Amino acid sequence: EYAIGLDLGGTKILAGLVDRTGRLIARKQLPTHAEEGEKAVIERVLSATHDVLSASGIHPEKVRGVGIASAGVINSDSGEVIFASNLGWRNVPIGTLIGQRFGLPVHLFNDANAAAIAEWLWGAGVGTRNMIYVTVSTGVGAGIVSDGRLVLGRDGSAGEFGHISIDWNGPQCRCGNRGCLENYASGTAIENAVSRKLASMKEPVTDRILVEKGELTAKVISEAALAGDPRFTEIVKQAGFYLGIGAANLIYLFNPEVLVFGGGVMNASALLLPEIEKSMRDRCIPGLANEVRVVTSQIGVEAGVMGAAGGFFENLY
Ligand code: ADP
Ligand code: ZN
Repeated sequence: EYAIGLDLGGTKILAGLVDRTGRLIARKQLPTHAEEGEKAVIERVLSATHDVLSASGIHPEKVRGVGIASAGVINSDSGEVIFASNLGWRNVPIGTLIGQRFGLPVHLFNDANAAAIAEWLWGAGVGTRNMIYVTVSTGVGAGIVSDGRLVLGRDGSAGEFGHISIDWNGPQCRCGNRGCLENYASGTAIENAVSRKLASMKEPVTDRILVEKGELTAKVISEAALAGDPRFTEIVKQAGFYLGIGAANLIYLFNPEVLVFGGGVMNASALLLPEIEKSMRDRCIPGLANEVRVVTSQIGVEAGVMGAAGGFFENLY
């Protein structure tokens, strides 16, 4: 049994053919190049899907469907990406386009929800009925498995963890709310905190030049922090502290067995995970928090593809 997973991201489009055991049998990656416009991006999505199908040598009749993981606002019933700034898309009926071209069932997921499916079926959530996956990347998102079901909500947009407010008086978020978690704890938030700090510290010119060139990324900052640069260690740890506040909220709401943290920024998990856990436990009723495991993801960069495909193998929602 096979299914195709598609991950539509701001930098790359990744297609993969996955089997029931979570093996990635074929993959095809293309750059997104959103600046070339909607039509060009759609063409690349269709071509990546086609390529992965033909490269695998699997007969289309053995493929159950195509699962799509997309960033942004989606409507999984209509198969439309309503708004995804990193793709340059507004109201794109990608589900219908894929379905018509390949004659296969299609399901559209929010990207964090898809990654949660992958962790649940084959990664850090195996064997649980209550797992929450949190991605800490450019922004923050989550996928919630509650009582053995993926929580999708009305449109497939449940789990927008990055936009829970942790400070009603905080800075305005692009969503309209104030004090949203992802403005305190994401790759972007870490980068902003570092540029504010360097501006106020009269730091060596080299670092300021890096900021101006946009080269002081969360990756560079985290690597310096892990190597012990005290200017950055505190900022990365702060992100963990804030994620812990959000995690406590999740625990009160969903009583999970395990919290799984993934996404690019969690490469600095040696600094982040202990801070997340401490901050979470400090603000949870012991009986609720004691048994919760806090771990890092196991699936890695292909989680979106794997999970979007994985939705066809189990009765998840
Ligand atoms: P996306 O946001 O497109 O889903 P990722 O999950 O890869 O992609 O997250 C990108 C973010 O992760 C960026 O802010 C990047 O700087 C950061 N990042 C990438 N690698 C590392 C690393 N080794 N350590 C810390 N942060 C990283
Ligand atoms: Zn917000």
